Amino acid sequence: MTESGIALPHRRITLLGATGSIGASTLDVIARHPDRYSAFALTANRDAEGLARLCLRHSPRYAVMADEGAAKELRRLLREASCPTEALGGAQALRDAARDPETDVVMAAIVGAAGLEPALAAARAGKTILLANKEALVMAGPLFMRAVREGGARLLPVDSEHNAIFQSLPAGYSGDPARSGVRGILLTASGGPFRTTPREALASVTPEEACAHPKWRMGRKISVDSATMMNKGLEVIEAHWLFGVPAENIQVVVHPQSVVHSLVQYVDGSVLAELGQPDMRAPIAQALAYPERIASGVGPLDLFEIAALHFERPDFDRFPCLGLAYRALEAGGGAPAALNAANEVAVQRFLERRIGFTDIARVIESVMERLPTPRLDSLDDALAADAAARRMAERIVEEV
Ligand code: NAD
Ligand code: MG
Repeated sequence: MTESGIALPHRRITLLGATGSIGASTLDVIARHPDRYSAFALTANRDAEGLARLCLRHSPRYAVMADEGAAKELRRLLREASCPTEALGGAQALRDAARDPETDVVMAAIVGAAGLEPALAAARAGKTILLANKEALVMAGPLFMRAVREGGARLLPVDSEHNAIFQSLPAGYSGDPARSGVRGILLTASGGPFRTTPREALASVTPEEACAHPKWRMGRKISVDSATMMNKGLEVIEAHWLFGVPAENIQVVVHPQSVVHSLVQYVDGSVLAELGQPDMRAPIAQALAYPERIASGVGPLDLFEIAALHFERPDFDRFPCLGLAYRALEAGGGAPAALNAANEVAVQRFLERRIGFTDIARVIESVMERLPTPRLDSLDDALAADAAARRMAERIVEEV
């Protein structure tokens, strides 16, 4: 009920990627408002035990494992615990969870290209999509935005920078910056754990060092992306598709405190920003309740404690992934899908200690040089560009 006594609708949520970092933050926010939100379906890749624990706590109707073998294990665990949640497995079940008529809101929080198809299913089914899975937009930006339009879906960004931009744009923003007097976007970046590390030292950094982010606790893949600054590159592409702003009007600003989550510049010289503590529950709650506001568990911002805000230019020489992302966006077609796929392979191999940190950018650059810009007219094109870049990246990893 609101203060005026009007009953607010109850929302049943499909949470894609429930066992991850965004999944945990989303469940934390939902659990604070049991009258307003409940879990309809929770999904994960292979961690049956992790998903079973979440089922016992949040009682969703369905629990879906992408991996069929893990689904069997989940079924057994739920039976043993007398949990009534129905366990399903496989890619089709993931897509079905995202488009089920009984769910209103889909949180897309799978990491990587694997999240594209279920997110697209939600778009085609006209759901409200809370998008954390930036790789889906990087891989298939124009196709995804078209599916949202044609499906009558609503797309709300959860990535903290894009959520800040969304909040700093006029309500009902049309996707045309000129019509709203938008000059450009300032996309803030923490700079990651190696912001001040000299170039020579970068070659020998370890996966543990790369994953120790100074401001955010996140999954391993996005943590490495933050360390290479590919995360910011992917976010430039994400911002381009979400807000219709050309790449040359999206400027990356390093801001180590991660308090200003991004800014919008207007033609009259005004600059609007959203500030807050670096805690993903804030953008998740904003997107979940939009256009209302709900408590997220994030405390107030203490400006006296922060005292000063710092900004610096990104270093494109020490962080070549940033430039590679701009280049892919400029090349167009399936180039961003190839960039993303090559990055996923390189990050995985870095985490396995098969290649060094600075090899990540080298692998991606070689893939982009050797692969002619793929076309992007359909989902099949996006998947083909992804697959070709993965094959090429694996071959280059062998050469490193
Ligand atoms: P994570 O690694 O912690 O969790 C990933 C989730 O995806 C897990 O539930 C996992 O089971 C699932 N998953 C992985 N591979 C899968 C597959 N092949 N099929 C189906 N499910 C699969 O990652 P995260 O940090 O929560 O990030 C999730 C997404 O949100 C990423 O796209 C990331 O870029 C984005 N994001 C994260 C943060 C953050 O603070 N963690 C912030 C902004 C954006
Ligand atoms: Mg972000």
